[in-house]
Amino acid sequence: MAKFTKMHVYPAEGGETIHIPAATVQGERPGPHAVITAGIHGGEYPPVAAAIQLYKQLDPAQVSGTVTIITVSNVSAFEHRSMFVTPVDGKNPNRCFPGREDGSYTERMVYYLFRDFISKGDLHIDAHCGDLIESLAPFAEYSWGVDPEVDRKSKEIAVYYGLPNVVGELCDLTKEYAGLNYENSARHGIPSALVEAGQHGQLEQDAVEIHLAGMKNVLRHFGVLDGEAWENDGYELFQGVTAVEAPVPGIFYCQVKPGDYLKKGQSIGRLEDYFGTALGEVFAPADGKVLYITDNPAMIQDGFILDLATKEKI
Ligand SMILES: [Zn+2]
Repeated sequence: MAKFTKMHVYPAEGGETIHIPAATVQGERPGPHAVITAGIHGGEYPPVAAAIQLYKQLDPAQVSGTVTIITVSNVSAFEHRSMFVTPVDGKNPNRCFPGREDGSYTERMVYYLFRDFISKGDLHIDAHCGDLIESLAPFAEYSWGVDPEVDRKSKEIAVYYGLPNVVGELCDLTKEYAGLNYENSARHGIPSALVEAGQHGQLEQDAVEIHLAGMKNVLRHFGVLDGEAWENDGYELFQGVTAVEAPVPGIFYCQVKPGDYLKKGQSIGRLEDYFGTALGEVFAPADGKVLYITDNPAMIQDGFILDLATKEKI
């Protein structure tokens, strides 16, 4: 069997089950093992559609090595249209890696994703987009500082995906565990990058095409797929991202959008209460470029407003 799919089923707490749909393409020649995870978050559809298309389009005669594609990594969140978190336990899987076999639903799910799929790879792509209430400027992010060879390949995955913004973030090894999927892979010696294109819970065909082209280009660059990879010579490189959060709950009137360059101290927007009384203004904490944004006015205390990519690590 050179191409096959399987729905893997695992037990979870309280009699729940975890479903992990894996599509595998075994090439006719030996080569690296690439693993792609899509759908870690519930409302991110273009990477899911691109992952399915990739499986359909890959011809084993043109593949060297193996491509394992997890088309919907978080089936529970997908089926419930749940933003950011898995509904069963309210946890964000992209804060739980490498997970725990005896943990809660999400901790077990990421444990199995890593143990049975990602850890078997020589390279890993974690494909995302803006969730239901997010918009973004397409970007890739990788973590470095664990091993020079892994760092180099992780950056190549990020760059060859072909997106206009690339963030290379120094891994904080004082943290006990990674949490983030791509950082966890790098910590375990598997080159990896997070890639983001698409937004608002829409199945935009443009974003599907961006992901499909990026996946194929990375596979070509690493010799998994026949053909010449194209160079991404138009990207902007950043050293870190800084989150901006709402200091108080309220209605947020945002004045910026993804891709905007902000100056430190520039106004991002204002918060008002439910009678229109000003509660405060939110300012950029540094010079940087708006990568992605919550473009929804309902804000809780410490609610996420936007991520700012910065040239210097902050
Ligand atoms: Zn995501």
